[in-house]
Amino acid sequence: MGIELDIRPIKDWLPQQDNPLLIAGPCSLETEEQTLETAHQLAKDKRVFVFRGGVWKPRTRPGSFEGVGAIGLKWLQQVKKETGLPVGTEVANAQHTEEALNAGLDVLWIGARSTASPFVVQEIADVVKGTDAVVMVKNPVNPDVQLWMGALERLNQAGIKNLVGIHRGFTPFRETHYRNYPNWKTFIELRRLLPNLPVICDPSHIAGKREYLFEVSQKAFDMGMEGLMIESHRDPSCALSDKEQQLTPADLGLLLDKLVIRQSSS
Ligand code: PEP
Ligand code: MN
Repeated sequence: MGIELDIRPIKDWLPQQDNPLLIAGPCSLETEEQTLETAHQLAKDKRVFVFRGGVWKPRTRPGSFEGVGAIGLKWLQQVKKETGLPVGTEVANAQHTEEALNAGLDVLWIGARSTASPFVVQEIADVVKGTDAVVMVKNPVNPDVQLWMGALERLNQAGIKNLVGIHRGFTPFRETHYRNYPNWKTFIELRRLLPNLPVICDPSHIAGKREYLFEVSQKAFDMGMEGLMIESHRDPSCALSDKEQQLTPADLGLLLDKLVIRQSSS
């Protein structure tokens, strides 16, 4: 038997959203110019509802680009002002969360490396509670549906009702051509456990390469997911992180044209 969380459906917090929830933007914000140009190109495509951009980047090993930090929040504010799109970033501790909320961000997501820590999830919940922010929870890196579910329950018990799950694949536990293994059975299990939770797919971090984005995205809709979070950069060849999986906004448009998208019921 599943548990009914006390959550608001997507269309209650994003009223114009009667299509699948599509979130797009660069893996990392790099400069103000890169942020704004990518955002303006994406905003021209009326299928994009939320702009994403990482400012604190959880790199697996030290020494690679770790994000621009809080200055990126100002660029996100500017995106919101100029395009009207709601904006979101990843938060991994209470300080990130406070700074992101103070900057007026609409969407916060908890990354795969943080979902596995109940302490981190609780400290984020304690800062977000009482606000209207939307919190999206990526699956943990390991295929443990209880941890994923537990993080969502923890946020909900703090009174956070604008909740979404994101399937971004798991550290490969069997041979795969993907960067992260998309265990659709775990999604089916999550849907059984939390039947009223909207869940979207992050094909970028599953695929790891542009050439697999279409098949993963189509599968997500075929499985009944409510949308996508997909990485898009004005010039992926120059991206400071995840350059092989990002699409230009124009190529994202072409991918969306090809997808057969089921109308979401949530
Ligand atoms: C991201 O969305 O940029 C990211 C780092 O994702 P994940 O937590 O899925 O690795
Ligand atoms: Mn990325």
